[in-house]
Amino acid sequence: MKVVVLLGAPGSGKGTVAALLVRREPSVCHVSSGDLLRAAVKRSDTPAARAAAEAMRRGELVADAVVGALVVERLRTCAPDGILLLDGYPRNEQQAAALERELARENSRVSAAVWLDVPEDVLLARLGGRRICSQCAAGYHVENMKPRVDGQCDACGGKLIQREDDQPERIANRLVVYREQTGALIGWYESRGLLVRVAGGEPSDAVADRVARTVVS
Ligand SMILES: [Zn+2]
Repeated sequence: MKVVVLLGAPGSGKGTVAALLVRREPSVCHVSSGDLLRAAVKRSDTPAARAAAEAMRRGELVADAVVGALVVERLRTCAPDGILLLDGYPRNEQQAAALERELARENSRVSAAVWLDVPEDVLLARLGGRRICSQCAAGYHVENMKPRVDGQCDACGGKLIQREDDQPERIANRLVVYREQTGALIGWYESRGLLVRVAGGEPSDAVADRVARTVVS
């Protein structure tokens, strides 16, 4: 089992690239931190899953060690010769250290951290152009994924809106948080000789090709 961490700013296309990889490479087990926690709440069948469910019910952050343990539980459900692709976790150095400890107990470790490096102007254009349907939440983009009728959802006719998170001042704030936390994490993996930088400014298929060459080798 290979464990690969996918790093990148909001708008870097981590989720899209991961989804493309899963479709192409059946050996890839994609784990996003959001999915991991939602699944834990549903099953509540191990101490870590129960601890995560309990913290979320109280509206608290789930402890790093708990998320690390959930990653290990997920790892055990993937094919032994597969690749566990982590997307959205770890987010900072503390979480990376917690993950390292949990994996070490399984005689496993992170084998690469792939950083999707996307220029800031591209990130701003991607995030600022996002629209979602106010009724069915389908996603659109003013440049890359236009609806058939301007401002209107193809699927249900609902009005397209900009999420609060995608308003210009919120985007600027998300990028600051990213630079502070993930920026340090990039250095952390680099100092361990695990960082692989992939230029991520192009369409996602080309980027997925490059990530695939790194991950499946
Ligand atoms: Zn809709």
